[in-house]
Amino acid sequence: DIPHLAEDDPQAAALKYVHKSPDDSKHCSGCLLIQGNDGDEWRPCGVFPGKLVSATGWCSAFAPA
Ligand code: SF4
Repeated sequence: DIPHLAEDDPQAAALKYVHKSPDDSKHCSGCLLIQGNDGDEWRPCGVFPGKLVSATGWCSAFAPA
């Protein structure tokens, strides 16, 4: 199984990643860099290879799709 990205992972912290976005209009599920399947709760992200991010998460690399 692919592990979830931890908020205290150094790369995650560098980009201020959180599992729960502070802005309801900006979620990982609406980011150009998200991968995997629509509707999955945890999905791969191009910025964090080898980890899954929360569909409701956010980081400072957010790019609106
Ligand atoms: Fe989420 Fe950031 Fe990955 Fe976009 S780049 S899917 S906001 S973790």
